[in-house]
Amino acid sequence: MRAIRVAANGGPEVLEYGEAELSDPQSGQLLVEVAAAGVNFIDTYQRSGIYSMQLPFTPGSEGAGKVVAVGPDVTGFGVGDRVAWAMAPGSYAERALVPADKAVRVPDGVDDRTAAAALLQGLTAHYLITSTYPVRTGEIALVHAAAGGMGLLLTQLIKSRGANVIGTASTAEKEELAREAGADEIIRYTEADVAEEVADLTDGRGVDVVYDGVGKTTFDTSLASLRPRGMLALFGASSGPVPPVDPQRLNAAGSVFLTRPSLAHHILTREELDWRAEELFAWIAAGTLKIRIGGTYPLPDARRAHEDLEGRRTTGKLLLLP
Ligand code: NDP
Repeated sequence: MRAIRVAANGGPEVLEYGEAELSDPQSGQLLVEVAAAGVNFIDTYQRSGIYSMQLPFTPGSEGAGKVVAVGPDVTGFGVGDRVAWAMAPGSYAERALVPADKAVRVPDGVDDRTAAAALLQGLTAHYLITSTYPVRTGEIALVHAAAGGMGLLLTQLIKSRGANVIGTASTAEKEELAREAGADEIIRYTEADVAEEVADLTDGRGVDVVYDGVGKTTFDTSLASLRPRGMLALFGASSGPVPPVDPQRLNAAGSVFLTRPSLAHHILTREELDWRAEELFAWIAAGTLKIRIGGTYPLPDARRAHEDLEGRRTTGKLLLLP
């Protein structure tokens, strides 16, 4: 079968398309024909070496497709099932071996591309608004990169809970998209002082929570935008990793809370994965949550997809199509 392979860490140019070997499914694994693979920032961290992977490897943490074979000791899945998976490597390929405990069935009302576009970021948005900081009616959240894959999901879900969103975005087109998703206010964070604007918009109070997936360039303003005892949920680093933080800064910012959560720790059991995925797919089927596929690329063009994502040229979710 054909796949994208990474033989050495580096820039998008290390993503090479070619033949790859795939064994029969082993214990606990599903062999899946990939209909679409989601492109995620984590794939760029693994490609560049920020997150270490054993080389060579096939990147891609997410996808959707049809089960074509089932390994020993698998229960709950059979040949022909439509499934989606998250946090399982090897998805930039025509076929993938997926651990059954990272897979969920896709309901009839959700097509393969939507499932591949929604699962990883959707589960993340789910845990951020239900478990990390359960946002409540009337509260105000600051969402960075509000027109990105994560940003559009967070914005819609926070609004659906009756809370308000101040988003950030770098261009007029992105601002428009974030407003369409429900953002009440947008700050052009490449030009404005975010903490000052937040203070103006909240009568000096600050926001209850900041969902920050940008990291290095936003961390300081995120802390400065919080109300006393608010929470900074730092869930990513699209601009680069945040340097070490002196805990005293959390005191100076108003006894605020800082957490650095990961999806891996929020889908630890079958029950938790099913709970989050079922709610996510139900919101999609009901139209409460719209999935914006901002770009599709043929599988061999994975390099271009990474260049666009890291080059800040994308909105919503990117997919690779084998
Ligand atoms: P996005 O679609 O949000 O793309 C990244 C966006 O970040 C860009 O479009 C850009 O928006 C903004 N940005 C700001 N500065 C930079 C920069 N220097 N380089 C590139 N982009 C920049 O990506 P995703 O939705 O895929 O991921 C968002 C974040 O969520 C990532 O950090 C990712 O690692 C994280 N994540 C974390 C998970 C977890 O469980 N912890 C799970 C899933 C994702 P603009 O132009 O408007 O500034």
